[in-house]
Amino acid sequence: MALFKLENVEDLYEIGEVLGSGHFGQVREVLERATGTRWAGKFLKLRKSASSRLGLERKNVEREVEILQSLQHCNIMALKDVFESRSEVVLIVELISGGELFDFIAAKESLTESEAIEFIEQILHGVEYMHSKRIAHFDLKPENIMLSDKLVPHPHIKIIDFGLAQHLTQGEEYRSLCGTPQYIGEWNGPFEACCLYVSIGVITYILLSGISPFQGDTDEETLRNILAMNYEFDDYHFSQTTAMAKDFIQKLLVKDQNERMTAEESLLHPWIKPLNRKQAASRCRSSINMKNFKKFNARRKWKMSYNMVSACNRLCHLQLLCKASAKANEELRQCESDQEDTESKPASLLRRRLSSSS
Ligand code: ATP
Repeated sequence: MALFKLENVEDLYEIGEVLGSGHFGQVREVLERATGTRWAGKFLKLRKSASSRLGLERKNVEREVEILQSLQHCNIMALKDVFESRSEVVLIVELISGGELFDFIAAKESLTESEAIEFIEQILHGVEYMHSKRIAHFDLKPENIMLSDKLVPHPHIKIIDFGLAQHLTQGEEYRSLCGTPQYIGEWNGPFEACCLYVSIGVITYILLSGISPFQGDTDEETLRNILAMNYEFDDYHFSQTTAMAKDFIQKLLVKDQNERMTAEESLLHPWIKPLNRKQAASRCRSSINMKNFKKFNARRKWKMSYNMVSACNRLCHLQLLCKASAKANEELRQCESDQEDTESKPASLLRRRLSSSS
């Protein structure tokens, strides 16, 4: 069981502005009082009892912490410290100030394939490292791929959010369909054959074309396309894409896991590591479909805010229900007790209220 510090995090860190938020809490900039170093603090609300709907189970936070503790790689967000109070756990992690990779790219006028490859290669290195530690991220998507500093000439990728990550055991069979459907395929079998690299294929496809490979008219159709690995490279969106790039994607988006490119093979694919000058030159001449990519990114951001607003609405509704009929049933009583816990922590409540109004 992971040991978390019981000291008050605010004695050691000054809590600053909100950097982002997820389903179970916020990420805020924090300043280490002793050294003046800036970090990020991930504030995760803990679930108070098994029947409660609010917050995270402690065992899930422990899993995220244990996984982060076992990962030390330049393309993966580093964990510094963990604090625990009665109602929340705070992960002190490396501050990643360059924003999301997709936002960085969408702000550009143009991007060649070779520039895009610099990013894909770093993601591959991070994922290959996770693979070597037998860890599957399970939620590799644009929101979780950030840049440590976007102002440097060659920005550095950082993979974040290990909330769904799993440590997988050698020889065991796994069957999973989790994470964000667009970015993860179904897999079924031993760890060696799992789908860590499908999401990289999807991210590369989107990056080059600005469209999503499996997008159907309905969620069911999208899911069917994912399960069948049904996609195509249409001429309109891929007119500027090299044959090598398509080959790279095709070798990752493969239904038969035994046929799928491995970590080592991906990093050695000629699109990533050209074998000759001609291959290298073609990557520099081809560009990504920027007009469409910008559209994709705008839609993605809109969808994220829509999801966030509807999640907040659902939460408010749940809390109202809890207040109105506190004695109605066991589950609703439980919701109310979560709320009381929050109210007994005026400092953290004030932090959340301030941020939600900002
Ligand atoms: P989700 O509900 O999507 O699983 P989460 O609660 O696990 O989210 P994260 O995805 O880890 O939270 O972080 C939420 C947001 O906070 C990110 O999208 C990002 O914008 C920001 N963020 C996370 N970690 C950092 C960091 N180390 N430095 C700067 N910003 C960060």
